[in-house]
Amino acid sequence: MDRGRGGEGHDLSGQPRSRALELDARDGLSDARSRFAIADDRLVYLDGNSLGRLPLATVGRVRKVVEEQWGVDLISSFEREWVALPVRAGELIAGSMLGAAAGQTVVADSTTNCLYRLSSAALHARPGRRVIVTDTENFPTDRYVLEGVAAAAGGEIRWIESDPVEGPSLDQLAAALADDVALVSLSHVGYKSAAIVDARSATDMTHRAGALMLLDCCHSVGSVPIALDEWGVDMAVGCTYKYLCGGPGSPAFLYVRSALHDELDPPVWGWWARAEMFEMGPLFVRAKGMPGFLGGTPSMLGLAAAEEGARLVAGYGIEAVRQKGIALTQYAIELFDELLEPLGFALGSPRDPARRGAHVAFCHADGKRLVFELAAAGVVCDFRMPDVIRAGMSPLTTRFVDVYDGVAALASLAERR
Ligand SMILES: *Cc1c(COP(=O)(O)O)cnc(C)c1O
Repeated sequence: MDRGRGGEGHDLSGQPRSRALELDARDGLSDARSRFAIADDRLVYLDGNSLGRLPLATVGRVRKVVEEQWGVDLISSFEREWVALPVRAGELIAGSMLGAAAGQTVVADSTTNCLYRLSSAALHARPGRRVIVTDTENFPTDRYVLEGVAAAAGGEIRWIESDPVEGPSLDQLAAALADDVALVSLSHVGYKSAAIVDARSATDMTHRAGALMLLDCCHSVGSVPIALDEWGVDMAVGCTYKYLCGGPGSPAFLYVRSALHDELDPPVWGWWARAEMFEMGPLFVRAKGMPGFLGGTPSMLGLAAAEEGARLVAGYGIEAVRQKGIALTQYAIELFDELLEPLGFALGSPRDPARRGAHVAFCHADGKRLVFELAAAGVVCDFRMPDVIRAGMSPLTTRFVDVYDGVAALASLAERR
């Protein structure tokens, strides 16, 4: 297979490739790429929002966990290192990119699992209210978990039919809120469109209606600054394997506003959530604070990798990462206007950079086939139903020239049809 050709060498009308190279030369974050394992420098990887690249530091860190902590120190590594990891990794993410004071965040289980525990706890914390509000464009696992939690409580989902490009609006949220709503759960950045929800206003409205807010930050953590404390968000979750580059299946973070620690009672009463877990007492007594929101033994390999990836992003600073994300997506949209729109593509993301995360959606009726053909041409992005070609721009590893080559390849494939 001829990899990484993209649009290399072809200057397309009005948009010289040299401009992308100039943008890369001026990029203050351009050295970050050298801190990742890049097997094929010509591969145009626009899928870091599904699986972030491998940081070099993670290779050494995971080797250490395997060879020294597991291989040599065996079970003593639990006390020496591993028991502290969920809280330590949580605090790193909380302080550097969630806008969350200490004592409210842990990293331990998948986003799906964390969503279940928190949404279920929220419903039980609002007795008499049986409705969960979410939107039709929310990520599948979020929709399904919330459906299941509502069904188990004899409740229901009140769906916001959100705009596929702009995401759920505050007016739609206002119309869905009533005194039967226990919980509102929204994604901070939409997984398809990258639309950003005004989480502060949405949380205010939710609170005025007497409900709780659960914010999914999978597509914002590590790409868009988050201010959970300031916005008054009650609960949040977010992946570490996307923009935090924690590796496949690395565990998610879970945040609970401290005022709610004693009020929420997640349904999984695991031993890691018990006060004095190593006393192994006869009955469950929830630990105070965030340890009380843990479940069972987390994957320490995944946790260590998640911590390493988060450390790398935190080192560059979320504001710098955000600025690069805006510049990359702005450039992608410029190229879209010039090269893709004339070929019948539609933009599936908000044009206002303040309302857009770090990926861009290009819509095309032949999207699925085009994504397949792009892969054969060395350009990796992904397809999302019904017609979305999703180009993810990881600020630490994606170059402007990747954006150029990716869009140019897409244009020439579409032109050929
Ligand atoms: C990626 C993603 C998930 C993934 O959940 P897992 O439990 O890790 O499979 C969930 N929600 C959103 C919004 C996502 O973007």
